[in-house]
Amino acid sequence: MTQVERHQWDVVVIGAGGAGLRAAIEAREQGLRTAVICKSLFGKAHTVMAEGGIAASMGNANENDNWQVHFRDTMRGGKFLNQWRMAELHAREAADRVWELETWGALFDRTEDGRISQRNFGGHEYPRLAHVGDRTGLELIRTLQQKVVALQQEDHRESGDYEARLKIFQECTVTRILKEGDRVSGAFCYERESGRFFVVEAPSVVLATGGIGKSFKVTSNSWEYTGDGHALALLAGAPLINMEFVQFHPTGMVWPLSVKGILVTESVRGDGGVLRNSEGKRFMFDYIPDVFKEKYAESEEEADAWYADPDRNRRPPELLPRDEVARAINAEVKAGRGSPHGGVFLDVSTRMPAEVIKRRLPSMHHQFLELADVDITAGPMEVGPTCHYVMGGVDVDSETAAASGVPGLFAAGEVAGGMHGSNRLGGNSLSDLLVFGRRAGLYAARHAKQLASARPAVSDAQIEAAAAEALRPFSAGEGAGDGADGAGTGAGGTPENPYTLHQELQQAMNDLVGIIRREEEMAQALTRLAELRDRARRAAVEGHRQFNPGWHLALDLRNMLLVSECVARAALNRTESRGGHTRDDYPEMDREWRRANLMCALAEDGAEGAGGRIALRRREMPPIRADLLELFEKEELIKYLTDEELTAE
Ligand code: FAD
Repeated sequence: MTQVERHQWDVVVIGAGGAGLRAAIEAREQGLRTAVICKSLFGKAHTVMAEGGIAASMGNANENDNWQVHFRDTMRGGKFLNQWRMAELHAREAADRVWELETWGALFDRTEDGRISQRNFGGHEYPRLAHVGDRTGLELIRTLQQKVVALQQEDHRESGDYEARLKIFQECTVTRILKEGDRVSGAFCYERESGRFFVVEAPSVVLATGGIGKSFKVTSNSWEYTGDGHALALLAGAPLINMEFVQFHPTGMVWPLSVKGILVTESVRGDGGVLRNSEGKRFMFDYIPDVFKEKYAESEEEADAWYADPDRNRRPPELLPRDEVARAINAEVKAGRGSPHGGVFLDVSTRMPAEVIKRRLPSMHHQFLELADVDITAGPMEVGPTCHYVMGGVDVDSETAAASGVPGLFAAGEVAGGMHGSNRLGGNSLSDLLVFGRRAGLYAARHAKQLASARPAVSDAQIEAAAAEALRPFSAGEGAGDGADGAGTGAGGTPENPYTLHQELQQAMNDLVGIIRREEEMAQALTRLAELRDRARRAAVEGHRQFNPGWHLALDLRNMLLVSECVARAALNRTESRGGHTRDDYPEMDREWRRANLMCALAEDGAEGAGGRIALRRREMPPIRADLLELFEKEELIKYLTDEELTAE
């Protein structure tokens, strides 16, 4: 029998990025004992990498901005597939969350008259992104960490123990959500350095684990984005929504190869940068889709005039939503008009003085100089699409962030689905983290309070099963064992190298379920995934449990394979193009599909449904509330809504 330490908490938050920290602060402020578990070092999360800013309709740069305009932009960006109530709450509450950050010590860049400065970003009608140069995420995390420390100091004053009500378990990975019956009872974890197992028991668990980018070869995401929270939810019985929608950011670095995919922030375009092809043409004017025609400039003169006079000119097409720009770049490269390394040119050097570039885009200046030996104040960058963000995630209640079907499980941030519909606007993630991180913490705390005297228990049998699953890679290939996805019995056989499996998975997802999708290729991807899942049961590692990255990756493979299957299966099923899902064989947006959400769940009893582990189901979207629909012109709604929906108004 495996002996593991058990810790008791009221609320456990998995992940210490913006969503996790905001949730933890809220739960602790509700007076509950809260633990945060994070796979990486405390402070090292994707949130820290966020460059451009946080979207909130504070109206500092243009007083016409308000939550209704922000809501409209978010719905347009998501092509009306957003869970509209989430988009509404987000637009209404984002500004308060930014003000709150400031009261906790965040130092945003200022306008000349001392207000928080706001910059332009794709798809936002007005300059809306509060920022700190191009290091906004760093300031956000610094501020939230400072708040955590302040709360710990408060607890120390009261109880003599800094960690009495808020404790961080850093470099610890959760591999299973534990349940009693259908209710959450805790989480099973291992410490990365020692390999030691432990269990945190709690009636409320908040998933805040971020995204899935590491399933793709070219990505802006770092090593810990292996879809853990998505998979943990699935394995706990909570469905995922909208998994076919993966955002390929238009501008990642394309060379040197060693850094391919690293992000080039959208602020480069927001601050005036332009995209050109190998013929020197500013090609985005050729790619304005009908649904956006009225809002974007038709000529370079009008586009350039917009920066000085946005009220009398239309926006440059470089600031279309990300899905549009990514597709346009892809098309230019395919047509043979790409840059020498297979991207296009992004230029700020001819658009603003060197000292302004260095002041407004210090990280980009540094990044290109260090990694590519390119001085962006003197010449253009080469950029191309990179897998950046997943719109799909845990299906949650819009108000409470509670995961469907699993009492006690909550999700916030990139791991949660619905808010961004089929495509997220830049800057809307940082605000999402704070708005729904707070809500998840609040409702997780309420749930835990309700169960104060009758907490679900963690059984020894569950711990035993989770430990056996985690240890399997040490004996894989030797004989019988459960499958890498926790289903069925894996066969013995030739041991497999987890790094090779990961590379093959990334290649398959990049080539077969990437930015432009086709039926045959996605079907092929599902076959490849089934083979990889089979081989992953034999993913074997040597050595021991003390810091063993091969072992950690072998465990992450289960998650990446499950999540990749969700993406491929949902993408194959959705026979239209919308936002972050582009089908070569179904290039048009289909109004009938707008009402459909595709839900992914684990196939019943671990059965291999249709050659896979994921069962797909279609769910109808609730009708958009009438007062929210009134915020749009009828002509615009006609492009998205069915006749039935329009007449029901
Ligand atoms: P994260 O910040 O990634 O945190 C996830 C946490 O979960 C980490 O602590 C991780 O260690 C932990 N974790 C994961 N799995 C486990 C596990 N199994 N057990 C325990 N812990 C686990 N958005 C904007 O709005 N504006 C921007 O300017 C912007 N710029 C970006 C730039 C880059 C380079 C990138 C990659 C993204 C950018 N985004 C931006 C998107 C945004 O940063 C992310 O969507 C957001 O930070 C996600 O926050 P999160 O709290 O959900 O997850």
